[in-house]
Amino acid sequence: ESGDCFIGFDLGTSGARMSIVEKTSAGHFDEVVTEALAWWDSNLIFDDGNDWRKAIDMLLSRAKGMEVMDRVKAICVSGTSATCLLVKRHSLDVSRKARMYNFDVKGGSSPAVENVMELIDKYVPDKHTARATTGTLAKLLLWSEEQSLSDEVLCHQSDFVSLSLMYEGLNDEVDITTHCDFHNILKLGYDVRELEYPSWMMKLLKEGANIPNPEDVLPSKVVSPGEPIGVISPVVAAKYGLSNDVVLVGGTTDSNAAFFAAAGANPEYGTAVTSLGSTLAIKQLSSTYVEDASRGVYSHRFPRFGGSDGEESDNEEEAWLIGGASNVGCAVLRAEDFSNEELSSLSLEIDPNEDSPLSYYPLIKTGERFPVADSSKEPVLSPKPDSRKEYLHGILQGIGDVERDGFKVLGELGATPKLPKVVLSCGGGSKNDMWIAMRQRRLKEIYGDDSNDVVVKRATNTEASFGAALLAAATFDS
Ligand code: ADP
Repeated sequence: ESGDCFIGFDLGTSGARMSIVEKTSAGHFDEVVTEALAWWDSNLIFDDGNDWRKAIDMLLSRAKGMEVMDRVKAICVSGTSATCLLVKRHSLDVSRKARMYNFDVKGGSSPAVENVMELIDKYVPDKHTARATTGTLAKLLLWSEEQSLSDEVLCHQSDFVSLSLMYEGLNDEVDITTHCDFHNILKLGYDVRELEYPSWMMKLLKEGANIPNPEDVLPSKVVSPGEPIGVISPVVAAKYGLSNDVVLVGGTTDSNAAFFAAAGANPEYGTAVTSLGSTLAIKQLSSTYVEDASRGVYSHRFPRFGGSDGEESDNEEEAWLIGGASNVGCAVLRAEDFSNEELSSLSLEIDPNEDSPLSYYPLIKTGERFPVADSSKEPVLSPKPDSRKEYLHGILQGIGDVERDGFKVLGELGATPKLPKVVLSCGGGSKNDMWIAMRQRRLKEIYGDDSNDVVVKRATNTEASFGAALLAAATFDS
């Protein structure tokens, strides 16, 4: 048996990872190769695009010679959201080192920073995502204020790696068409509903930032995650023993890739993923768009595969990955000195069908983003009972209630369906079966009765690289 194979790369917050999946005769995708590389094991630096390429080179070199490499059909790259850099249009050489996802323009103080803040204030609409000083637009504006752009183009982390796999080793001067997917491009200010750069943005870049031809700097082709963007460079193909017709597809962000990993590339509406790591984040697939900055709710356009011959029809259904991220999460368990062993053993003693009388709001410091954005919201972790078991019960219920309120808010804002049908859980907290049962019971009671039949389960796979590989497979599979 030898099915088609697909490669997914993830450049995450802690390192790079590669998954190769193989299509089975039953039509599923099995992960047949996994390679991981932690930044701290290697001497690679976070913010150099050349080092991202080195990381990809190391991962591909490990797989070189494996039989599956002959059968690879497509590659997809996911990266951290809002990580971007500038490169030279005709060579792809890095001209300005990457500004990472957590780089904050406000972190510096210079006349350039002040200019950027003024421009954002003047041109970017109130409450717009692109107002964030950690967003891609603010980073681009800072570069342009620091030194005029000269024959440079903007790439996100994922765009840069995909483009380098397409163009590397080609001797002739190239004229690079920069592609970006509509997940990575959200924080640049691109309008993912209308699928265009909004007029305020072009005005800001032209008039405000004095960039005469912004269309030459911005990604010129915006594609769906998973949509083919080009073919691998023959030099790169030969180097790793890949076939010359391997296709590069539009990428995604690491947290959306984790959704694909858990839910697959073609989930039903109402499929949700809750991430219970240091912080809690929820995402739900909806047929309607929802947004409310005052509650930290935003929508990503979700790719729909299977369009007959690539022709867009008018009634083609739109899908949205809606959700938000809270500051509440399992970090509080560490802060309150619960070891993983204690968490496991005490949880066995808690009855998931019983309510705790405690009503906590388990933040570790002041400030909340979702389901309500309130920078002055205080943690509530009192009264503190003598019993560790009761204390834990109160905390787990408190975190679960933020999840429940989050889904309730999505429903109130117009999610379709209004409630999730299945909630796949990932992150450290998803190991806890008692908690899964408790969360399911309380999610069923979201509107005061238990009329909905939502199911909460642990996700089988949550690696972003696996999600990216599924995305690479999706267009070929449809
Ligand atoms: P991160 O977001 O930092 O990657 P992880 O997904 O690794 O976090 O999750 C780690 C968190 O999971 C820790 O805060 C830990 O307290 C919590 N955790 C570990 N085991 C359990 C458990 N059995 N029940 C609830 N929480 C747990």
